[in-house]
Amino acid sequence: MSLPPSSLKERLFAEARALGFTRMGVAHAEPLTVEADRLRAWLAAERHGVMTYMANSLAARVDPTLALDAPAGPGLLPSAVSVIVLAMPYARSSERVGPAPGRVARYARGRDYHNATGSRARTLAKWLRRQGHKSRATCDTMPIVERAWAERAGVGFIGKNCCLIVPGLGSHLVLATVLTSAALEPDAPQPERCGSCTLCLDACPTQAFVAPRELDGRRCISYLTIEESRPAPEPLRASIGDWLFGCDACQDVCPFNRTALPADDTTRPFAPDPRWEAHDAADVLRMDAATFATYAAGSPIQRAGRSGMARNAAIVLGNAGEKRHLPVLREAAERDEDEGVREAARWAVERLSAE
Ligand code: SF4
Ligand code: SF4
Repeated sequence: MSLPPSSLKERLFAEARALGFTRMGVAHAEPLTVEADRLRAWLAAERHGVMTYMANSLAARVDPTLALDAPAGPGLLPSAVSVIVLAMPYARSSERVGPAPGRVARYARGRDYHNATGSRARTLAKWLRRQGHKSRATCDTMPIVERAWAERAGVGFIGKNCCLIVPGLGSHLVLATVLTSAALEPDAPQPERCGSCTLCLDACPTQAFVAPRELDGRRCISYLTIEESRPAPEPLRASIGDWLFGCDACQDVCPFNRTALPADDTTRPFAPDPRWEAHDAADVLRMDAATFATYAAGSPIQRAGRSGMARNAAIVLGNAGEKRHLPVLREAAERDEDEGVREAARWAVERLSAE
């Protein structure tokens, strides 16, 4: 026999807490009309750069009940009535991990969140199925605007830095969603609480914010170091600083991230991996495909690939301003198999030689 909606939601949240989720919320599954207009305008301005998948999946992105491909194709969950949003904080205990130069964004310092958080969301979806409800879980694996759903579900609010901020937890969070046919009572959205603060907008090294809550992805270091296959445009390279993969600058300055995280933070799967202590940007630039595969195993940095990370490493070394890196850069400029890496290394050599 199915549980009544109120006790189902209570039991569901208890299950989610037991799985390690710290905040949960529910929204009614319906088309995201306001968000759809914003997303369309953002795409029309080409702020998504090479992330064409954003445009290709727009229809499904703004309506979780729509089919992904053809009308007869598989939907995200055509019978979805509720969207459950789950948040799990990742470790932010240390300012820097690993020898300088070279810094990896905090979310990527532990196990890949697609597995670490996604497997827990899938367990919750299975639990719902055992209660007689259809369900489908995703953690950045389906076209869902997770932050928009998190805001609707009252989990937090979207700050001027475009991140989901959960008062009391901050924004260093991984989000997962479970779509379900269960009719759960929706939670009330939270108001935006940035007020007159502009710390994140001012802190962005590449001036990627066009306006509060509006990011030009093409200027963002996360995009330039992860999504883009070509080296960053020259005028932006110096601003990348020592970011090897991703960037935390607009989150690190946020007052909502001064809150202490739960005591078991470092025991979560996102605890920094020792590999970041062992290798700096020069090591990354030297890695061949096989060495990189071992180095990146189980980590989100796999997304950038060997060439992307080697190119990022060359830019980081160019910015570090240390002539001791000239030999490894010259070697890469002449011999690396990838033109993007060679080009970034040539730029770094010129930069260091001019100093
Ligand atoms: S992640 Fe870094 S580059 Fe991107 S918007 Fe934030 S501060 Fe700017
Ligand atoms: S730094 Fe300030 S403006 Fe930016 S998200 Fe945080 S509170 Fe909002």
